Amino acid sequence: MSLYTAPFVYCPMCAHPLQESIIDHQPRSKCPQCSYVDWGSYSLGVGGVVWNGEKILLVQRAYNPGKGVWTIPGGYVNQGESIGTAIVREILEETGIHTKPLSIIAVRDRPSDSPSQKHDTYIIFQMSLLGGILHAQPEEVSNLGFFSLAECKNLQIASLTLSVIEASRTFSQGLVLNTTVNLIGTSSTLYQIK
Ligand SMILES: [Zn+2]
Repeated sequence: MSLYTAPFVYCPMCAHPLQESIIDHQPRSKCPQCSYVDWGSYSLGVGGVVWNGEKILLVQRAYNPGKGVWTIPGGYVNQGESIGTAIVREILEETGIHTKPLSIIAVRDRPSDSPSQKHDTYIIFQMSLLGGILHAQPEEVSNLGFFSLAECKNLQIASLTLSVIEASRTFSQGLVLNTTVNLIGTSSTLYQIK
């Protein structure tokens, strides 16, 4: 699939009309006046699997899509925020629970099939529980708690959530933070297999 990427007709940096250019073998919108190229529209989300002994932290969605469905906590990554920082923040905001990332255990990818939708990628972490008191963020979470795997299966639960909960109990660790590699950019982090 290739398309002359929307949504911009005019350059969002300098307001000059964009032109179609072939860049990296793809037709893309490019500004002939400044260096702006429309690389596409992406959104990045994170989710966290938090075990407390034999029980897993779940939240019930308070809004659509999926209102009433139980999932692992998570949300969207802010521009300029690392994925590890984002998942700690989202879990704390939604549930009142303090956590620390251990590893990346799954990635769900969903390219857009319409120009009005973003290419949506969701990275799922295994987290370690540090403490805190359960407190639901009322705008996003209608209920929450720690549940055993057997209890999870009796809830109206997202199948992705159930899959990653079960996978998180296996021996495989996933991608872990590697701080020994020199990376370009002071805010860069690297997760890799060990
Ligand atoms: Zn421009």
